[in-house]
Amino acid sequence: MTLSKDEFSFLESLLITPSPTGYEQAGQTVWVDYLKPIADEVLTDAYGSAAARLQVNPDAITVMIEAHCDEIGMVVQHIDDQGFLWIQRIGGSDPTIARARKVFIHGEKGVVTGTIGHTAIHLQDRDNNKPFAWKDLFIDIGAANREEAEAMVRVGDPITYSDDFDFLTEDMICGRALDNRIGGFVIAQAFKRLAERKDELRVNVLALNAVQEEIGGFGARMMSYRLMPDVALVTDVTHATDTPGINQKEHGRILLGGGPSVTHGSSSHPKVVKHLTDVATKHEIAIQHEASSVRTGTDTDSIYFTRQGIPSALTSLPLRYMHSPVETASLKDVSKLIDLMEAFVLSLQADQRFNALP
Ligand SMILES: [Zn+2]
Repeated sequence: MTLSKDEFSFLESLLITPSPTGYEQAGQTVWVDYLKPIADEVLTDAYGSAAARLQVNPDAITVMIEAHCDEIGMVVQHIDDQGFLWIQRIGGSDPTIARARKVFIHGEKGVVTGTIGHTAIHLQDRDNNKPFAWKDLFIDIGAANREEAEAMVRVGDPITYSDDFDFLTEDMICGRALDNRIGGFVIAQAFKRLAERKDELRVNVLALNAVQEEIGGFGARMMSYRLMPDVALVTDVTHATDTPGINQKEHGRILLGGGPSVTHGSSSHPKVVKHLTDVATKHEIAIQHEASSVRTGTDTDSIYFTRQGIPSALTSLPLRYMHSPVETASLKDVSKLIDLMEAFVLSLQADQRFNALP
């Protein structure tokens, strides 16, 4: 995928702007500013979810494309007498990879750099191989004592790793917060293309970038209830299972670069899924398949049972090393995902209804 200069700088801003769950305001501002000139209207809500709208025909159905905008992180839980910060996780951050990492603490007075303390190999107790929990981890911000630390940060300040992103190859991008800042990029690009082809559209379009997915899909729940679209196509990241040490019998076979995945089962409406896979076939977009017996662990779980039910489908971006600062994705997959979302929305009829039973 070749990104235009404008697209690349938008992707870059999305990825480098911190957006941990509950603290998404700066990240959402980047997204809203990009969509405002394109959309007929951008709606926001009390907690910071944002939805761009293309109004085509008041009598037609409305389709919602959706991604969550929050990333995992940490938060300052306690400042001790020596000036060390004790932390709690935000979302599913993994304590086993946290030690010896540089972090940014995002306080009211600006960004403070810190490092998660790590005992030197020479001084480690070799008999103790117990993995670390978040309660065992502390951050050193160079403060001599509590007073000095409190002048720099406060309990409740959010924390992210200092990593941004790099390209491993021209196609493979690697960094922090691809889950799911890159989803905001995907729905924005699909929305932009749909706006350019508005005269071909038969349905109204909403692109929702929702807060608070990583702690339970709350932003998507609030906005779905309010907007009540007729059909929803959700995107998030999914585990690429093509690296060593992953049991594909247990977790399925998803390849990086193999195209977006489509989920079957549970929250995924059979007719929307069928429609989506037919669109992929028609447009020769390679897709991969996943099964979900209970929860998908995405915003789809929050959207589909809103009020009387919103027929929903989930199409995901394969991602290696999820919930780490080296999350890795393929731009080819990103491009195919945008193509699929665009083609799906353009395929819908003004009066299209998805009922499971005839
Ligand atoms: Zn996610």
